[in-house]
Amino acid sequence: MSSPIWHPFTQHALQPHMTPIARAEGAHLFTDEGRRIIDAISSWWVVTHGHCHPHLIEAAHQQAGKLDQVIFAGHTHEPAEKLAAALVEMTPQGLDKVFFSDSGSTAVEVALKMALGYWHHLGEGKRNRIIVMEHSYHGDTVGTMSVGERGTFNKPYASLLFDVDTIPFPKPGHEHDTVAALERILIDHPNQIAALIVEPLVLGAGGMLMYSAEVLRDLKQLCERDDVVFIADEVMTGWGRTGTLFACEQAGIAPDILCTSKGLTGGFLPLAATLCQTRFYDAHFSEDRSKMFFHSSSYTANPIACAVGFANTELWRAEPVQERVDTLAAHQAAHLQNLKGHSGFENLRQCGTISALDVKVSDQGYLSNIAPKLYQHFQGLGVLLRPLGNTIYVLPPYCISADDLNAVYDAIADAPNVLKL
Ligand SMILES: *Cc1c(COP(=O)(O)O)cnc(C)c1O
Repeated sequence: MSSPIWHPFTQHALQPHMTPIARAEGAHLFTDEGRRIIDAISSWWVVTHGHCHPHLIEAAHQQAGKLDQVIFAGHTHEPAEKLAAALVEMTPQGLDKVFFSDSGSTAVEVALKMALGYWHHLGEGKRNRIIVMEHSYHGDTVGTMSVGERGTFNKPYASLLFDVDTIPFPKPGHEHDTVAALERILIDHPNQIAALIVEPLVLGAGGMLMYSAEVLRDLKQLCERDDVVFIADEVMTGWGRTGTLFACEQAGIAPDILCTSKGLTGGFLPLAATLCQTRFYDAHFSEDRSKMFFHSSSYTANPIACAVGFANTELWRAEPVQERVDTLAAHQAAHLQNLKGHSGFENLRQCGTISALDVKVSDQGYLSNIAPKLYQHFQGLGVLLRPLGNTIYVLPPYCISADDLNAVYDAIADAPNVLKL
């Protein structure tokens, strides 16, 4: 009796069995048989406050009985208006226009189209190149794959991907190379670069690679100097993950365009927003219908998702969420400190609530055989961790208890011995 479902990022030939989850609460998932699993990766980086937060449930419940869905062209509704106003207030200065969509990938596609549309309508259509950072991940649609790392993930589709200019990842000690590379590209392609897109401070799917706020600030400064649109993909880093509400805050910068999704509804429902400065909106504002922003998803600004998104902003204001973030960050630091002498690990790193370390093995990279073995080891101990190749990372909901986090790190510390690595 096999299921008709084709699962995402799953090699069914190697992983025929899917764990059936019946319910979730806080930092825990519960299987059909009632087995408890600690969700140490926030169900793919989306859940911030914990699963099934009562305030988010209540918001969804209330809204579902009032207005389920409405076309968002030519119409608006209170949940979207309230959420948009809250987003403008909570995000860095100058991001005064909000475009809703339904996933991180779409939020990035929208950002790229905003930047290109902006230059086009300003009569600078030659500004159409995008600069990206090595090892970046911005989604799995064709446009977002184009601005992401090329490799195994997208080899079959290489012919569909557009050309970009790539700056190296700012490895510790080599930060200057990254900034210099950007400067070089800007010199070599005067008035041809539309935008730079980056994941601020942490490259998630690229292996939880971390870099300093200074580099981020330097990149922003160069973009400003040459009028290059600076797009911050905060789909993963937003909503407290890196220790501040948005990662850009740590560099003291305000991006020209910002993408948010994963934690936007606290991880409750799919929703995304691309925030931009008014000049992007103004460039499309015209009595000429051909200049309108040609983009929509059917479920753009779904009222229930927006109501939950707004409830999420209420939680950030009403509950001590920042304190939980700080506490989790401190616990993560202490656990990493404990693992420092462990011979099985290297490159221990942390940014806010996110910790990561590399298992020392000869066989590295995403397709390394180590990842599925580690995954099974953790599953057996009731811990959901999903290593990226030989990189183990812990990215839990902010409500995770000290005991649960201990259990997660016990499982990590034991892995090299148990698996005889
Ligand atoms: C997850 C992610 C995306 C894509 O979001 P989806 O909702 O999966 O489409 C884009 N950018 C970053 C940085 C991400 O981590």
